[in-house]
Amino acid sequence: MQPTLKSQQLFEKAQKLIPGGVNSPVRAFRSVGGNPLFIKSAKGAYIYDEDGNAYIELINSWGPMILGHAHESIQEAIRDALQYSFSFGAPTAKEVQIAELVVEMCPSIEMVRFVNSGTEACMSAIRAARGYTGREKIIKFEGCYHGHGDAFLIAAGSGAMTTGIPDSAGITQGVAKDTLTAAFNNLEQVQQLVEANPNQIAAIIIEPVVGNMGLVLPQQGFLEGLRAICNKENIVLIFDEVMTGFRLAKGGAQERLGVIPDMTTLGKIIGGGLPVGAYGGKADIMKCVSPVGKVYQAGTLSGNPIAISAGLATLTYLKENPDVYQTLENIGTQLVNGLRAVNRKLGLNYTINHIGSMYSLFFTEKPVYDLASAKTSDTNLFAQYFKAMLKRGIYLAPSQFESLFLSIALTPDLIEQIIYAHEQSLREVLELK
Ligand SMILES: *Cc1c(COP(=O)(O)O)cnc(C)c1O
Repeated sequence: MQPTLKSQQLFEKAQKLIPGGVNSPVRAFRSVGGNPLFIKSAKGAYIYDEDGNAYIELINSWGPMILGHAHESIQEAIRDALQYSFSFGAPTAKEVQIAELVVEMCPSIEMVRFVNSGTEACMSAIRAARGYTGREKIIKFEGCYHGHGDAFLIAAGSGAMTTGIPDSAGITQGVAKDTLTAAFNNLEQVQQLVEANPNQIAAIIIEPVVGNMGLVLPQQGFLEGLRAICNKENIVLIFDEVMTGFRLAKGGAQERLGVIPDMTTLGKIIGGGLPVGAYGGKADIMKCVSPVGKVYQAGTLSGNPIAISAGLATLTYLKENPDVYQTLENIGTQLVNGLRAVNRKLGLNYTINHIGSMYSLFFTEKPVYDLASAKTSDTNLFAQYFKAMLKRGIYLAPSQFESLFLSIALTPDLIEQIIYAHEQSLREVLELK
């Protein structure tokens, strides 16, 4: 790896102009120390910084680049769309096409509204659930992230956690009092909240598979239990599949795990790397949204033709090449088996959570199933490991409390390189021979 002088210079200048030098906090490398890399380009499985260093990608823009960077079919779709102008503020044929695809691919969605980010999707989904039920409170889970909407910045996971702000300043008590929180995988706590707030809970929102406290899987019966509580109490069950949608299966975590929510929020892959989000669900809930119903929600650039073209090309590719999901399973299994074998060889018992093309290595020997258990990780050790991997050309998420995302551009050879770097990095930071 060459020195990263250009990144350092850019970061110094950026810090004078942009808070923390970045437009989203976790990019600042604060929880691992050092300066963030400024990225110039990426192609396939590789990302390149301003100083010309190449890294094998395990972030993939936090999920969207499931086909690898600058995939030809997406490039072509964007290039084709450009000639027709960039924004109309009026409906387009492509919005109908992508809506049709989303309804077809995502089991819970009968109608869908497109927005510009996952944050917007989640904010709008709870507003629709509140309008539909006439109730005010929501339940969320500690460590789950649903974007930076006020109502969600209570026990909000990853970015909020790793910058050392557990929640956020600037959230009113009025907003905070309507957000109730429970521990992930703790059905009993949810039951207690529901009993203590009879007929007051509009929605339960959850990442069915959590990526925002590191990867955490639901235990057997947990999501099924939430489904049963919501049925009994007429609560809207919202799966936030901004990370897992179109990733864990064509129809997301809900298809893979067989639990169907009332509403689903989407982002990341749905835009193929451009800013797109969406929320959808049962038609009778979605018909509460304006201009049909009384729940107001709008957007000047919503359904933007360039962004939708990238999303449409991505979803079309995934639908027409279902073998992508088997490829991702194989890549994930090869990588995680390899990491586990190295750990065993070195006598280390670190927890690795894994499903499909998502995984997290936690620097703890305890099982990780909620926020409290995730926090038993040694974050100093993670920071050293992160730097040791980066030095060896592997670009990991700069926080213990993030999932890693694999793309189909990772070949078996590249995976062996990652496993080798993992072994060398662990030997270095733990001072093993
Ligand atoms: C990334 C993410 C969001 C927020 O999406 P943005 O596009 O960053 O606003 C919401 N929920 C989950 C689960 C996410 O991972």
